[in-house]
Amino acid sequence: MTQLTNLLDKDPAQLVAYCAELGEKPFRAKQLLRWIHQFGASDFDAMTDLAKSLRDKLASRAFIAAPAVISDHTSSDGTRKWLLDVGHGDAVETVFIPEENRGTLCISTQAGCAVNCRFCSTGKQGFSRNLTVGEIIGQLWMAEFALRQAKGIEPGPKGERQITNVVMMGMGEPLLNFEPTVTALKLMLDDNAYGLSRRRVTLSTSGVVPMMDRLSQECAVALAVSVHASNDALRDSLVPLNKKYPLRELMAACRRYLEFAPRDFVTFEYCMLDGVNDSDQHARELIALVQDGEAPVPCKFNLIPFNPFPESGLKRSNNVRIKAFAKVLMDAGIVTTIRKTRGDDIDAACGQLAGEVQDRTRVQERMQKMAEYQQKYGRDFGRIVEISS
Ligand code: SAH
Ligand code: SF4
Repeated sequence: MTQLTNLLDKDPAQLVAYCAELGEKPFRAKQLLRWIHQFGASDFDAMTDLAKSLRDKLASRAFIAAPAVISDHTSSDGTRKWLLDVGHGDAVETVFIPEENRGTLCISTQAGCAVNCRFCSTGKQGFSRNLTVGEIIGQLWMAEFALRQAKGIEPGPKGERQITNVVMMGMGEPLLNFEPTVTALKLMLDDNAYGLSRRRVTLSTSGVVPMMDRLSQECAVALAVSVHASNDALRDSLVPLNKKYPLRELMAACRRYLEFAPRDFVTFEYCMLDGVNDSDQHARELIALVQDGEAPVPCKFNLIPFNPFPESGLKRSNNVRIKAFAKVLMDAGIVTTIRKTRGDDIDAACGQLAGEVQDRTRVQERMQKMAEYQQKYGRDFGRIVEISS
């Protein structure tokens, strides 16, 4: 028996090739793309402008399916969080954050994460595996049409789009799952699929320098960089990847990226950790880092109040401190925002729930894998999951 192909795994060019394999013309691929990504269709029989013979052929060889939904919760503030089953005991999260003039979807790119930042709970689960294209774009596909259904909005290009922005800020380090991430990004931007502008799609990275350069060439979307520290010694202890790509190299990579970026600034994310990285002196050091006379980095700062979890041994900076820190940056002319916590009542502000469904054997396996990464990147070990734009 031939294995069935999930058409969510295919980007526009791959769908053309797939149609060619079936002896079909390229315009069929465009029709398929529209049915899948604009109408949310998963049943080939609904694709009424395809010949019956082609629909039958597709039904016997292909399918269209996103990861199964394990749970689906909506917060009192409207934030909606899905927990998705990506097989082998792994689960990832997708979060929708509605705002007045936009709807942002925060998606995951890996089950677990190998980077192991000290303040991030995803790392605590260890690295499990990279998500496929279908599992990444499937989050957008599933969420867009579930949101429309809830509001009674028709599928198709004429129906009001619910998701206007995407942030890759869920579980995982997108640049360590490069190809599937870029393929999913291309689908997000494609006019026959979601047609989002590059400015409305943001990739967040802990700073995988060579892959930032590749992204600038292959699919330059808006960039957020998780900086979290104002000097290398501190960043080494919070983001182990810093030992490989220290701040100077990271800042240079940001400047190179900006030549190709859809926005003229990088967003620096900064997780506010009580007594660790939140003093005025740290803020002044950050200013010197990004306003380096010879080579400044046009940027904006997004301060994220730390979402505590028990094993971290870290605490959230208090609000007065966060505001004072923001003021130092703003007084130096740097646009600074403080991320508001959304979906607290459904645990959408960090990925705890994904941990609850893991079974213990799998956790052990992941921990073994983590040990390998610890040897490579250092012994710190944390978890990543953040939501919100
Ligand atoms: N791996 C990528 C993208 C996912 S994490 C990255 O690190 O950028 C998205 C954001 O959430 C990052 O800025 C990350 O540092 C932040 N984050 C992770 N754990 C957090 C926590 N416990 N509290 C607040 N922010 C956290
Ligand atoms: Fe991975 Fe979490 Fe660090 Fe992002 S913050 S790189 S998800 S460990």
